[in-house]
Amino acid sequence: MKPKKKQITSKPSLTYHLGRVCENEDCREPIADQERKSKRHCSEYTDENGIHHNCRRRKHQQKHQIHEDQLLDYAAIQRQTKAKIEEAIITHGEFVTVAVLEAYGIVLNNCISISHGYEESTVVFLGYNIIVNPFKQYIKIQKHD
Ligand SMILES: [Zn+2]
Repeated sequence: MKPKKKQITSKPSLTYHLGRVCENEDCREPIADQERKSKRHCSEYTDENGIHHNCRRRKHQQKHQIHEDQLLDYAAIQRQTKAKIEEAIITHGEFVTVAVLEAYGIVLNNCISISHGYEESTVVFLGYNIIVNPFKQYIKIQKHD
């Protein structure tokens, strides 16, 4: 086999002494010292498969993705909590104790909202309110739409 010929380009050789890299966490390609000072991402390019790369836009999409994941987690917690509340009602009825909530893994802090009324607090979950009355010492589960 013949050795490949080295390609000769007219561009000045690039240096990387400043150690700058693309801010896209999946990329981290080095950015040449010869690039302008404000450059923080690779230049846009289209690779041999015709896929367009834009590290600057990718970074924004990733931020958006994280936000969507958090919303999905929140929705999943709400659905899980609803299922746990339904299980608790089937076994214990609408009046429960703190021990029952704990046994079913129903965490009041995971609620959608909470409102404090006279003597009692209404903790709102998907499909159910949990009414907590520390004076009369009861916890009541109430279905809502
Ligand atoms: Zn990049």
